[in-house]
Amino acid sequence: MFKKILVANRGEIACRVMRTAQRMGAACVAVYSDADARAMHVAMADEAYRIGPSPVAESYLRIDALIEAAKRSGSEAVHPGYGFLSENPLFVEACEAAGLVFIGPPASAIRAMGLKDAAKRLMEKASVPVVPGYHGEKQDAALLAKEADRIGYPVLIKARAGGGGKGMRRVDDPKAFKAALEGAQREANSSFGDAAVLVEKYVSKPRHIEVQVFADAHGNAVHLNERDCSLQRRHQKVIEEAPAPGMTGEMRAAMGKAAVDAALAVGYRGAGTVEFIVDASEGLRADRFYFMEMNTRLQVEHPVTEAITGLDLVEWQLRIAAGEPLPLKQSDVGIDGHAFEARIYAEDAEKGFLPATGTLTHLHLPVDLARVDTGVREGDTITPYYDPMIAKVIVHGASRAVALNKLTRALRETRAMGSVTNVAFLEALSRNASFALGDVDTGLIEREIATLAAVPEPSALDRAVAALSALGLLREPAGTDPWETLTGWRQWVEASQFALLDWRGMQMEIEVRTLGNGRYRVAAGRAEVDVAVKVGAAGVHTLDVSGEIIEAIVVEAGREVGVFVGGEAVTFGLPDRLHESDDSGAGEDRVVAPMPGLVKVVTAKAGAKVQKGDALVVLEAMKMEHTLSAPRDGVIAEVLVKAGEQVQDGVVVVRLAEPAKG
Ligand code: ADP
Ligand code: ADP
Ligand code: MG
Repeated sequence: MFKKILVANRGEIACRVMRTAQRMGAACVAVYSDADARAMHVAMADEAYRIGPSPVAESYLRIDALIEAAKRSGSEAVHPGYGFLSENPLFVEACEAAGLVFIGPPASAIRAMGLKDAAKRLMEKASVPVVPGYHGEKQDAALLAKEADRIGYPVLIKARAGGGGKGMRRVDDPKAFKAALEGAQREANSSFGDAAVLVEKYVSKPRHIEVQVFADAHGNAVHLNERDCSLQRRHQKVIEEAPAPGMTGEMRAAMGKAAVDAALAVGYRGAGTVEFIVDASEGLRADRFYFMEMNTRLQVEHPVTEAITGLDLVEWQLRIAAGEPLPLKQSDVGIDGHAFEARIYAEDAEKGFLPATGTLTHLHLPVDLARVDTGVREGDTITPYYDPMIAKVIVHGASRAVALNKLTRALRETRAMGSVTNVAFLEALSRNASFALGDVDTGLIEREIATLAAVPEPSALDRAVAALSALGLLREPAGTDPWETLTGWRQWVEASQFALLDWRGMQMEIEVRTLGNGRYRVAAGRAEVDVAVKVGAAGVHTLDVSGEIIEAIVVEAGREVGVFVGGEAVTFGLPDRLHESDDSGAGEDRVVAPMPGLVKVVTAKAGAKVQKGDALVVLEAMKMEHTLSAPRDGVIAEVLVKAGEQVQDGVVVVRLAEPAKG
């Protein structure tokens, strides 16, 4: 086994790999960019090397810097994690040229599977069923449109170099094909430096079911069962599970065999995932699954497979890279119970899953209820440079229902402040009725987005508790409040105080009247709440609301107050009263960049008439395109950005003319 391993990655996956490598007695070498100098993966490592500035092109994607760090540290092997250089054959070759073992497949296997079109051609030859479509080399727009007609709408345009759901457009109508093609090519070019696409039949009632495979250097391959990753938004996985609900032994065997055949066809070694799209319009059927692509690396969602098999997939990767044979035969691989993984991201589900940044002023992860894989700690910052993932929460139970219940509980136990997160969305999804029945498909989230992503207005009680906190009334332990010693007097004169709270840009003024003995009458909007508070330690308070005893966790962090009552979380901002009339935010007349990014396309023209919802500017951030559209009907007064320009968040990109009066 290796004595020293360099982990060429960051965040949760770097930490995950190091956990196993260190358990197996290997020393771990971390690499970091400037933004990550104090990151968790650096702290966990036995030694660490700086590889460059924060942008990935200048750090985590620099093969020369990584090889240099591996050599200087005396590492014997390199683990690439996922993303970054994990599927780059040039990196594999550079490692081998430097005498380092690449913990992953041979460069030739990555190349064979690297481009989706070539991979599909190869799979056809190996008799693995592929999605019907056009996966030829010609890229002429007219030809692609004709192929789409031949395939039959709806079709899916995909970047052949794609990954992470980027560079993908579903087209329902031939009239929309040209614009969709251009969008896909543009995103493909900027994300992967390769604009070529393939066109596929859009499978109806699609389920994403993938098979984990492993192959050793001695010609053996096995599969470790399937994962269902049908819960997606924008083609990105949200909650994954294993096994797939409704899976039959017959179909599992057929998919497992196809996946193993796919791996053997390319001379695979190490961990890989063969992704299939399944037409579930008539349930799961062994003749309705089609190869989509092979991911030649460890997958984000590998922990659900670990949970149901009891195996450590990183350990398998290390052993196979060290030349050992596969630890198990196919017949020895079992399934124990059911597992789910939810991906916690810094993103705003209500605003179309807009990626967010920020310093995690408070972070409580449900480590007592679940396995939590993370690469950040409280106080760490989610920067715009990398994937905004905060943590993965993995639960295991004897049955699917038990595991799903655990997932809900774990998510209700999760608290994060300092950045918007998708925790409430995930929690709502974990309680979704179709999901509970196992009736999943890749369109479920989009169909039910209104209920899943709805952010309910904070209740009167939430506001009341936040107001008490804002006024400093929850700070002292009960009994030492100086007002309480003056109770008699206070009963005569009810003191009134006002707290100003901000909730998602909405300001609310709340009146708190002190009634004495820890009792308050709080007027929050039209609702009035009488609440008695027993201030507790560590922000855990006991409330008496008209005889109902409620536990509330209140966290003050930065300029925010988080109120956590009964599994619901609300974060309020504490606005600075001096800047109350600050109007620099997006109004009806301004279109503001919601995050830092690169202006890709400007369709807005000064003087032009626009309708509410018209696309004005396309911004690229976090490798995704975001369309900024007109907030109302009107006329464009000013366009303040040009394509190719980098903008900060909060910058006004387009201004609309004042509506004409009368
Ligand atoms: P999976 O989530 O199934 O493992 P994805 O294709 O979604 O596979 O990608 C896995 C991870 O790899 C993502 O979470 C993302 O961080 C990273 N990734 C994928 N594509 C890219 C890319 N083009 N550039 C940078 N990172 C990427
Ligand atoms: P990526 O490399 O970005 O992961 P994939 O080819 O794996 O790209 O597709 C990502 C997702 O897009 C799938 O998980 C699935 O939800 C959806 N998808 C892909 N191909 C099809 C198809 N032909 N029909 C319907 N949905 C599809
Ligand atoms: Mg995929």
